[in-house]
Amino acid sequence: MALELFDSKTQTVREFVPLKPGFVSIYVCGPTVQSAPHLGHLRSALVYDLLRRWLEFNETSVTLVRNVTDIDDKVLVNAKAVERDWQEFAKEVEQTFNSAYSALGILEPTYSPHATEHIHDMISLVESLIAKGHAYQAEDGSANVFFDTSSWPSYGSLTNQKLDNMEGEAESTFGKKNVHDFALFKAHKAEEPESAAWITPWGLARPGWHIECSAMAKHFLGESFDIHGGGLDLRFPHHENELAQSTANGDAFANFWSHNALVTIQGQKMSKSLGNGISVEELLEVGSWAAIRYWLSSSQYRSNLDYVPTSLTDAQAALDRINSFIKRAKLEADVIDTGVPPAFTNAMNSDLNVPGALAVLHEMVRAGNTALDSNESQTVSSCLSQVLAMVEVLGLMLDQPKAVSLELSQKIEELVELRAQAKANKDFNRADEIRVELTNLGVTLEDLPNQTIWSING
Ligand SMILES: [Zn+2]
Repeated sequence: MALELFDSKTQTVREFVPLKPGFVSIYVCGPTVQSAPHLGHLRSALVYDLLRRWLEFNETSVTLVRNVTDIDDKVLVNAKAVERDWQEFAKEVEQTFNSAYSALGILEPTYSPHATEHIHDMISLVESLIAKGHAYQAEDGSANVFFDTSSWPSYGSLTNQKLDNMEGEAESTFGKKNVHDFALFKAHKAEEPESAAWITPWGLARPGWHIECSAMAKHFLGESFDIHGGGLDLRFPHHENELAQSTANGDAFANFWSHNALVTIQGQKMSKSLGNGISVEELLEVGSWAAIRYWLSSSQYRSNLDYVPTSLTDAQAALDRINSFIKRAKLEADVIDTGVPPAFTNAMNSDLNVPGALAVLHEMVRAGNTALDSNESQTVSSCLSQVLAMVEVLGLMLDQPKAVSLELSQKIEELVELRAQAKANKDFNRADEIRVELTNLGVTLEDLPNQTIWSING
């Protein structure tokens, strides 16, 4: 059975066939670096990490782009509220995201472009949209530029909505022709720092959020690519607007649209007004990063994932069962090359049914324990090998009982980065010093060709 994925544009599960055989291109909307990550951000990044790992396991070369929105209304407002330079503030928040991703075992994307590094791409795209009659400079003569929704009959096709029934953009309507038109560039405001504005053909302005993704997806993946992913909360208006901009420009854009469902807290939507949000720090008081990864993987990506007080202890118990089987079996049997069981492949191919795949993994652990009890060493060897292969595909982190605080993981990340810089500068003494410093923190490093993975000893 080939990989089948749900395409949220056509609302059907269909066979996933890459545009270019053997290569898969994925664009995932990354964070707006305005405040520390919440569970929803981590879940979304993990879903596409699992998809990427599964594709790579099946010998597909994956290009994954996950952008960083480092200029946005909320970045400016939140930086101002704490009297910080917005660029430094954005960098710092980004670091908290990277630390959390890394601690969760999420592989680094192939590219993680910053919006502020691609202003030129955005300007070119907007110029092209104006030339084609799908965008216009504000009628009040300001540097605001809008997408003209009335010029694009397909507007609404991603979420299957008609213009008349849609909610208007909540943003300022100054100079807009229609209430549904959305900003491509926003004129510089006197109360905002000048460093947050760029010289554009329309005056001093900064980009709107939606145009960033259209421009960066095209820059890295071309006019058409395989999968566009993100959280369900981004479908409208963000993804609808991305689709409109890119297709109105004549680009085919994404072949599949994929959206992961949200994280709920004891059956309720996570929201500021309910005050029921759970921070990563709070979770780490209850369980390890490994348990968080296991728990975040334990629901199919299109189902809501509900946090209850026992979520992480249950996840840790499940990990412990796998771990203790592996430890016992390694003493008795050799690891052979078995690959993963067909039932695991079927589950993963069935719209990335990770809970189904985890059920196969636990069944194999049970069978392995039975074989250990009756001294059937060949069966033990086969079960052990398949369990290890499945653990690898799912990126499950075993033997990591120690919780790492966000602060510590941030410090480790910084040291790992400094060490990489020292190595790049051929300053090997400094690199060694940093390694010792990391060892003293209990950190083990594994140098891979393009990155260094760290883990902390329990
Ligand atoms: Zn986006």
